Amino acid sequence: MSPTATAVELKSCTLYIDGKPVISRSAKDIQYNPATGEPVAEIPRCTPEEISAAVAAAHRAFDSWSRTPVLQRCRILFKYRELLEAHADELIALMTEENGKTLDEARGSYQRGIECIEFACGAPTLMMGDTVDRVGSGVDAWSTRHPIGVCVGITPFNFPFMVPLWMFPMSIACGNTFVLKPSDKVPRTSVRLVELAHEAGLPAGVLNLVHGAKDTVDQLLTDPRVRAASFVGSSVVARYIYQTAANNGKRVQALGGAKNHSVVLPDHDMKSTVSAIMGSSFGCAGERCLATSVVVAVGEAADPLVRELVNAADRLTVGSGTEKATCMGPVISPEAKKRILGYIELGEKEGAVLARDGRKDPVASGKGYFVGPTILDKVNPESRVAKEEIFGPVLSVIRVKDLKEAIDVVSRSEYGNAASVFTRSGGAARQFTQNVTAGMVGVNVGVPAPVAFFPFSGWKNSFFGDLHALGKDGVNFYTETKVVTCRWPD
Ligand code: NAD
Repeated sequence: MSPTATAVELKSCTLYIDGKPVISRSAKDIQYNPATGEPVAEIPRCTPEEISAAVAAAHRAFDSWSRTPVLQRCRILFKYRELLEAHADELIALMTEENGKTLDEARGSYQRGIECIEFACGAPTLMMGDTVDRVGSGVDAWSTRHPIGVCVGITPFNFPFMVPLWMFPMSIACGNTFVLKPSDKVPRTSVRLVELAHEAGLPAGVLNLVHGAKDTVDQLLTDPRVRAASFVGSSVVARYIYQTAANNGKRVQALGGAKNHSVVLPDHDMKSTVSAIMGSSFGCAGERCLATSVVVAVGEAADPLVRELVNAADRLTVGSGTEKATCMGPVISPEAKKRILGYIELGEKEGAVLARDGRKDPVASGKGYFVGPTILDKVNPESRVAKEEIFGPVLSVIRVKDLKEAIDVVSRSEYGNAASVFTRSGGAARQFTQNVTAGMVGVNVGVPAPVAFFPFSGWKNSFFGDLHALGKDGVNFYTETKVVTCRWPD
């Protein structure tokens, strides 16, 4: 393809500054469709001037937006929700084109994103303060919640629609203004999110969009006009964001990576456990921060479970997310595929038994970035494949003798995002939920994703900060409290 032909055929990706789409003057990267390996769009980075202009627009808009009555702010969000519903099919197709996930997976994450807007529409009550009468003679005291200013959001590639919606709807409902920096791998879903927010009536400057990677993020985190940063991505970057933002005096919540365990006890229900683990481990090609990456099989649960998991994995149709029959799509990039294949090789070297080798599936050697579902059995809990985040369709099975040992394996992980237990015993489930060191815990569910009115609450290296995303934490993160003590003599 000639350079001219490429330029004509590739889709564009705009910035959004002060209510207007802007064509960046920066150099462009090419975005490839992960299912075909073909180029689809030109993705800008951003010039420092463009980033500064986005922050300036948010800074200017803050005064008027923060004084706009909360009901009026939420009315725009109600309209926004309706507009997103009207564009659901388009947005779902766009997620699949950018990220590779199947249309059904895109629809599921679309729904979870919509729920975040619905939660943010409750801002009038969520922002209520407290009052205590007569804290002294003739003295009353009350607290009120206030927006903090310009907030920024930096998001990962795996949920192009849902994760930005964890952030900006609640932030702007609380009266803040926002600059969104989506993943440089999947930025076009965010362009539509921001365009439609303006179509819903959001005033200019309230929500701005910039692109790029480290340089863009560094500029946002060091700009004195920015008050708070929300981040979701890998733990290495999350730790960096937390430190950099905090060093620059900003409030920060940084959600990191994960290594999630599903513990299976001998009394589990095979059919539902296998179905839940298959969805959790291989859904979204394993590129999910709540994916089950390790099954901890207790006692005699192991042999029949591994056999059934391999059978189920053999039946998974792997292919383009746009095909109806597809159960699992590609991973995001050739680099991700290389890293995942490297981990499968490492697992073998570390002594694991390759119960299913996804490298041998025909789709893994065709075009697109496919890796078939892979199962490593008899994995040593101290090996790297057992401990490190692989972020692909590779499931490790660790065999242990009892529940206590299983809880120890889970709790030794440096991550603490999520963990599940599969059992028919209420006592065992209680022992697990009480003792496991993870922030999101499931009983007989594979992906314990909390609904939007609870916080998304990873522990240890899965989270850096104090207030998590969503739930009351989200409201507290995007507001600050004023306490008034008032004397009017009786
Ligand atoms: P990533 O850390 O590579 O990138 C995340 C964001 O940070 C992107 O916007 C990227 O452009 C930016 N970025 C990348 N390198 C940077 C750097 N050096 N300095 C500043 N910014 C940088 O993550 P990813 O590959 O896009 O996403 C996958 C990761 O996200 C996985 O580790 C996954 O577990 C994690 N994740 C966590 C959650 C959660 O809730 N804890 C949710 C989704 C994804």
